[in-house]
Amino acid sequence: MVNCLYIRSKRIISTLIIAAMTFHAFSQDVPDYDKVSTSAGVVEMHFIGHGSLMFKVNGFVIYIDPVNSAGDYRFLPKADIILVTHEHGDHLDTGLINDLKKQETLLFCNENSISKVPWAMAMVAGDRQEINNIIIEAAPAYNIVNVRAPGQPFHPIGAGIGFILTIGGKRFYVAGDTENTPEMKSLKNITVAFLPMNLPYTMTPEMVADAAIAFKPEILYPYHYGETNTDIIVKLLKDTGITVRIRNLK
Ligand code: ZN
Ligand code: ZN
Repeated sequence: MVNCLYIRSKRIISTLIIAAMTFHAFSQDVPDYDKVSTSAGVVEMHFIGHGSLMFKVNGFVIYIDPVNSAGDYRFLPKADIILVTHEHGDHLDTGLINDLKKQETLLFCNENSISKVPWAMAMVAGDRQEINNIIIEAAPAYNIVNVRAPGQPFHPIGAGIGFILTIGGKRFYVAGDTENTPEMKSLKNITVAFLPMNLPYTMTPEMVADAAIAFKPEILYPYHYGETNTDIIVKLLKDTGITVRIRNLK
């Protein structure tokens, strides 16, 4: 009897362990996300990795710079909208775009990406679209000091873009590959900002802090940060009233 009980409880424990391990393995495959409440519903911001994000509001799915090298897309839904900031390999992945595409999917991108995704619609900085009550604005994204060679910035002005999404009165800014440009610093009413922080292509933590202090997003996510030490930006923005959130966006 004692033996039997012992065996049974042992079996239950091992079942629980297996269940926990399965849950753990599954949760590893799904990117983390945070939520922001808006008048149009809760916006989920899923952190896929590097420059790749997925926003979801009331089941409507928006991918920004989806690339397979950034994370795991196996359990993620098809796209209603895909936004591509520029044509570099860590931002534009035509194979994955084909996987995420359904018949109604719309794709907005910078002009240079059109040759690789002919069905997309190009946007330049200042352009605006409205889809399903979501306003999509294109913002400039370019280097000022970080250059490949003299006169050849990694991201020349006019080539790439960032996106500002307005959903239910809240504004979400995903900057793309850029530095702390005057246009960025003069942005207004940004609830959530994703600013790139890997070198030499985008910004140092000091440049990110300079921009954030100028346009004061409520919440700042350093993203596309590679090997940059995220502790520095946390320290630089301490006591500024800006909430800095570090997520797995290497
Ligand atoms: Zn780039
Ligand atoms: Zn990049």
